[in-house]
Amino acid sequence: MSSAEKPGLVPYYKLRTEIDSFCESLEKVHKKHLNCKKGCDLCCMAISVFPVEFYAIKAELDLESLSGLPVPKDEVQCRFLVDHSCTIYNSRPVICRTHGLPLLYMSMESDEYELSLCELNFTEYDFEDFDEENTYPMDRINSKLYQINKNFVAGFEGGKYHEQDRIPLKELIER
Ligand code: SF4
Repeated sequence: MSSAEKPGLVPYYKLRTEIDSFCESLEKVHKKHLNCKKGCDLCCMAISVFPVEFYAIKAELDLESLSGLPVPKDEVQCRFLVDHSCTIYNSRPVICRTHGLPLLYMSMESDEYELSLCELNFTEYDFEDFDEENTYPMDRINSKLYQINKNFVAGFEGGKYHEQDRIPLKELIER
């Protein structure tokens, strides 16, 4: 399946480009406080994704070449992490594109905003300086992704998926 064969995937690719561009600008703003580097995999763990993301990633990958990846020692590790590197880096899910950045989201327990940060970053940063301009708006982007997925599943294989279904990423090669 290619993006040309599945036009429902195009909004996902467009959103991903917007996210990349936004993350790049945030990385520039916080450059001094980010310790992210090749070989650090603290943020990498087994995740599941919406169907639109699953099929958009699937359409880009040569799955045969990935079928021989070593099986992780435990269930928590991402199936695509090998030798501390992401083997699907260019096609990685949007959540992986935000690794290391300050993520702002509404708390489930209260109507307060909360921040999610990697413990290795912002070690000498004054948290009072975080605001809506220099953080990643998780809820806003997740709402966009939710809507794109909702439109996708509505027209996909006779309603095979519900809009809230998620698919383990490892099923790209384990189905
Ligand atoms: S897809 Fe890549 S970046 Fe995302 S968790 Fe897996 S190894 Fe890490």
